Amino acid sequence: MEDDYNRKRMEDARRARDLAEEFAVRERWTRTELIRFQQRQLDSIVRHAVKHSPFYKKLYRSVPMDGPVAIETLPVIDKRTVMDNFDRVVTDARLKLGHLYDYMDNLSRDDYYMGEYRVLTTSGSTGLKGVFIFDREAWIHILASINRATSMMGLSPLKRMRIASIGANSPLHLSYRRAVSMDFGFHDYRRLEASWRIDDLVRDLNAFQPEYLHTYSSVASLLAVERKARRLRIQPKVIITSAELLTDTMRKTIQKAWNVIPFKSYSTTEGILGIECRYHNGIHIFEDLGIVEVVDEKNKPVPDGSPGMKILFTNLYQYTQPVIRYEISDMVTISSETCPCGCPFQRIVSIEGRNDDILYLEGLKDTSVAIPPFVFHGVIALFRDIIEYQIIHRDDGLHFRFVLSERSKREETGLLFKNRMRQELEMFQVICPNIHIKFIDHIERDPQKMGKIKLVISDIQR
Ligand SMILES: [Zn+2]
Repeated sequence: MEDDYNRKRMEDARRARDLAEEFAVRERWTRTELIRFQQRQLDSIVRHAVKHSPFYKKLYRSVPMDGPVAIETLPVIDKRTVMDNFDRVVTDARLKLGHLYDYMDNLSRDDYYMGEYRVLTTSGSTGLKGVFIFDREAWIHILASINRATSMMGLSPLKRMRIASIGANSPLHLSYRRAVSMDFGFHDYRRLEASWRIDDLVRDLNAFQPEYLHTYSSVASLLAVERKARRLRIQPKVIITSAELLTDTMRKTIQKAWNVIPFKSYSTTEGILGIECRYHNGIHIFEDLGIVEVVDEKNKPVPDGSPGMKILFTNLYQYTQPVIRYEISDMVTISSETCPCGCPFQRIVSIEGRNDDILYLEGLKDTSVAIPPFVFHGVIALFRDIIEYQIIHRDDGLHFRFVLSERSKREETGLLFKNRMRQELEMFQVICPNIHIKFIDHIERDPQKMGKIKLVISDIQR
């Protein structure tokens, strides 16, 4: 078994290296060449979906398939639709959501499901969990994209580095799986968990002395605070942060601490991939691998340079679980002006939405302690009964509002959750607030907030 796993992993890495060379050629294409390529890939994935996915076959029954597919004529889908129809969406009839849940419950490492698939989940910005399947070909695209990101930042993928990656501790998350499946001993890799106490992260990083640090924006900015306090003594040359949480304040804090401008990366489990270029003037979306439409609330395109209400994303390399015109709730502004780096890919010049809040709890040592949102998202992700959620911090404690799946046992879930959440918070050395749980039928969407659910809300005056 282990031999088989390693053989496949090496083979995938080899193929990813070759693919990265093809990628490099595309980075020198003209915009016209790129758009022509996108159209071919779109035609191919749509036809594959219609042929092998009962869901898409029905959804696209009135879409003409004789010529090139006009993307704007395809219906828009969302995560709820994909999850409700999962077994019919996938193009391999052997994949069943029920079995995947059982498999995920027991997964403790990187592994190939049925010898060929990687199974990942996302809690996502809207609080509804999704399951995403990557076949080996799709995974090779993910791996090759890491090489591309490295060279787009102006680094050589051939230079050995000490890389510290601080992220999710679950093999069900993209960041973790990507890091594990790439670790062949070429780079000196150190994987740390974002859920560790800050003291432990500091101690470990001081010993490891990374040259390259990849983590959530909120973690990077907490580390910057440690650096300023001289407890953390590292001088990374490159810092990469996950885009959605990097506020201006965070960026400034990080830049001040290390005199390094952090690179934003943008990736979603649905398959969007992008990295800020070496000139730091926006995130280049890997448009040969996906089509990003920036639209308003009625799914109409917004002009270049104006913020959209959401993204419609089409993945051009995901054949097992096609993601076509799929709603993602990020509000971004795109620029298609030519970039000095010469790359034809459009740039996300700002991400306005989805600012997950950091909550501040009272610490054991009289100071307030910052709890980044992923701490909550991480614990909730362990409970597959919880379909949607919202966290509100009030004077009388933390209020968790849960929408549970049918047939789940409320009391049992509530009790287990409270215990797990307390354990997690104690690791941050805080006075654990009262935890209140309310089970509700749905989370109301505020039209004032563009119908979005705010996942973490603080009602505390600071
Ligand atoms: Zn550029």
